[in-house]
Amino acid sequence: MVYHVRGRGLPDEEPVEYWIADGRISLEPVEGAETVFGSSGFPGWIIPGLVDSHCHLGIGTGGPVGLDEAIDYAETERRAGVLLLRDPGVPIDTRSLDDRDDLPRVVRAGRHLAKSKRYIPGLAIDVDDESQLPEAVAEQARAGDGWVKLIGDWIDRSVGDLAPLWSDEALTAAIAAAHANGARVTAHVFGEDALPGLINAGIDCIEHGTGITDDIITLMLAHGTALVPTLINIDNFPGIADSAAKYPTYAAHMRALHDSSRTRLSAAREAGIPIYAGSDAGGMVAHGRIADEVDALTGIGLSATEALGSACWDARRWLDAPLLEHGAPADLVCFADDPRTGPDVLRRPDLVMLRGRVY
Ligand SMILES: [Zn+2]
Repeated sequence: MVYHVRGRGLPDEEPVEYWIADGRISLEPVEGAETVFGSSGFPGWIIPGLVDSHCHLGIGTGGPVGLDEAIDYAETERRAGVLLLRDPGVPIDTRSLDDRDDLPRVVRAGRHLAKSKRYIPGLAIDVDDESQLPEAVAEQARAGDGWVKLIGDWIDRSVGDLAPLWSDEALTAAIAAAHANGARVTAHVFGEDALPGLINAGIDCIEHGTGITDDIITLMLAHGTALVPTLINIDNFPGIADSAAKYPTYAAHMRALHDSSRTRLSAAREAGIPIYAGSDAGGMVAHGRIADEVDALTGIGLSATEALGSACWDARRWLDAPLLEHGAPADLVCFADDPRTGPDVLRRPDLVMLRGRVY
């Protein structure tokens, strides 16, 4: 099938018109094309496929899932217009999904790297001897699609509070090993203390980042560190605190991090730290909620256009994925109403096209 779509693009709001043949975009008319979106007068909107930069296809509420469930999640994301996702830590092998033309593209970070009893059971590879961390990182770099995921901090039950998992020396060696293997590194970090070591070691991104302070913002700007705050998952912190009554210091810390999260993350945005939308779907957040995260990002100071860009064109540039260029894969979403209007519009694209196929 040869298709034709027209509407207005974003962020520039200019009229756009694409022909789609053999799964790719043409900026030149292609004969025999069927118009599947946009009548004359350019009433609708056409943007590149949405991006969820923190989405675990291999994780459900009970931990690791089977492939059938991972496929269900991928289909849910596609229906929400998410055609590219960065999977920052996947406990099962989801590579066979890459053979399915009907499922979103996935950029994987391999498996989470943590230590025994220092992350959610069953998800991570435990690297208890941190001298082994660089080799473990190199292995995940080779197994992933250009990213490695570290657990930066977690509750240390002997301390009764969040604490860093790794020494500064181990992080420097580990992040260098990832970069030498062509991978960027990101880390799960809730608290304050793990951030300086990770950022000084050259980490590329921080997930959650609720412990960001003014000093950390300065450090992130100096190092060019990106941030994926996963705001809709930060809202689970009070529940995490409630279930950790045995560790009152930790519980109070989690509540305080939640209370200060919007203020701290607004300061990061205000300072100019690059922020990308990630829902943290899998586990405590259901799949298909990128629209809610985009909406939440407007609450820390992103304009509606910037918030959408953080889940679309800006995220694509960050992940080295194509936009709607001549010859690029035809991964796009169309909306009759302006997708910046709010989550009710954004979560229901009027047309989803993945690899040139209409959904
Ligand atoms: Zn996550």
